[in-house]
Amino acid sequence: MTSVDRLEPRFVEYIPEDVEPGVLYISRRFSTATHLCCCGCGREVVTPFNPAKWSIAEHDGKVSLSPSIGNWGFPCRSHYIVSGNRILWAGSMSPEAIAAVQRRDVQDAVRLAPPRPSWGRGLLAGALVAWTSTVAAIRGLWR
Ligand SMILES: [Zn+2]
Repeated sequence: MTSVDRLEPRFVEYIPEDVEPGVLYISRRFSTATHLCCCGCGREVVTPFNPAKWSIAEHDGKVSLSPSIGNWGFPCRSHYIVSGNRILWAGSMSPEAIAAVQRRDVQDAVRLAPPRPSWGRGLLAGALVAWTSTVAAIRGLWR
């Protein structure tokens, strides 16, 4: 368990199987980045880039992620900011603050989610079942 105080950006197409500590793997193709939790606990932190999640800024080959990375789903509950490849420890978050961020995450995700086709698919499936049973009923009459 060695914590890191910097993340070296590495631009890749695919995130590798074995993620090295201290490296921020950035895939532009899949709009995501992955690194191992900077506290040294070894858990993989995935930061997708989209308006509801993270954004990445590059300056002189140094990257910054915003907002901060709060790993409250991990036992370590580490919380830090990646700024110019450096890790700025943000201190642990109170349960109330975590809950507030999670609520905001859910709201953002709902607001930015693309329209889901499942509703239409449900109707279609319902219509198909109705139609199949009608056919079965007609067949039954003929027999
Ligand atoms: Zn950790």
